[in-house]
Amino acid sequence: MCMTAALIVGAGRGRRFGGDIPKQYCSIDGEVVLRRTLLKFLNHPDVDEVACVINPEDLDLYVSATEGLSLSPWVAGGRRRRDSVRLGLEGLANGGQSFDKVLVHDAVRPFVSPATISKVLKALEDHDGAIPALDVTDTVKRIGPDNRILETVPRTNLRRAQTPQGFRFETILDIHGRFLETEELTDDSALLEAAGKDCVVVEGQETNIKITTKADMKLATTAPENIILETRTGFGFDVHRLTPGDGIVLCGVPIPHNLKLKGHSDADVAMHALADAILGAIGEGDIGTHFPPSEPRWKGAASRIFVERARDLVSRRQGRIVHVDVTIICEEPKVQPHRNVMRKSLGECLNLSPDRVSIKATTSEGLGFTGRKEGIAAQAVASVSLPFKPIG
Ligand code: MG
Repeated sequence: MCMTAALIVGAGRGRRFGGDIPKQYCSIDGEVVLRRTLLKFLNHPDVDEVACVINPEDLDLYVSATEGLSLSPWVAGGRRRRDSVRLGLEGLANGGQSFDKVLVHDAVRPFVSPATISKVLKALEDHDGAIPALDVTDTVKRIGPDNRILETVPRTNLRRAQTPQGFRFETILDIHGRFLETEELTDDSALLEAAGKDCVVVEGQETNIKITTKADMKLATTAPENIILETRTGFGFDVHRLTPGDGIVLCGVPIPHNLKLKGHSDADVAMHALADAILGAIGEGDIGTHFPPSEPRWKGAASRIFVERARDLVSRRQGRIVHVDVTIICEEPKVQPHRNVMRKSLGECLNLSPDRVSIKATTSEGLGFTGRKEGIAAQAVASVSLPFKPIG
């Protein structure tokens, strides 16, 4: 069976942020950089083991950053980055498992995407090494003393190397052992070059930056593809009494009838349940919190304003409503003939395509207040995607 390891190199003690804590142990939105990086590999379906090379002086920080994660034992780094990688590879080799492939990755590149990891692994099927790299878009100058420009370097064949750099495990382990004294190399693929091995580049990822400064951190966290989302669910329930009247509004759709729903607003029981479901998903109270029934200005109001307010509160949190499911419980009117118009109505209200809006109806078999046609009940579930916040 082919096994793949990821070796995260975090032994550096660079404190370029000016603080006391090495960069890989600083936090972004409450989550430590190293932990974010490790999770990218732990959650990738094609990575079997993840190990980290650290400076033992940072052991307390490491233990706290990796709490609850399933990692191979940590390895103490060496004097140079390449020593740390070699020691990490040896640690993996001596860990009782054999690996076919290994990904070597900088601890301070927490924004690597699953797609980038997959591209490197795929290229390793046919090559000894593969690295993600980006085009050079700026013009490159070679300079001499006094900043005098000596030449413009053609950039067509130049690439900027990133990590994870992927290798055949035995190949990279062997080369690290053989080229111990080669002068300092800034990445592992340079060792493959030195050994005359076959190493290719795959398309890199612009946002897979190496965090060096606070400005880097800011830049990377605001890139939309780097915002990690989580799904939240909210439930809503509402009942309104039926009284003699001239029609009912359900999901914003007027339905002719000899009864009407009693309420302060237009009493659209389905919209009310839906607004509460959305508010529930984002923990923003309920419809009464935002639209107190004591306020005369909501008298006779079209209930879509309640749902639109809940929708806007989701947007304000940089979230999105991804799906809603409404169930209307009544003996009459029949919902089925109006279902598609209702889906369209809710979809317009929520800026959702109708395939993300479900409307169901049921009777209560003549039982209870809905069975006696004294009122209509509605239930709703809303699924909302929000930027991830650490739990706690
Ligand atoms: Mg209500």
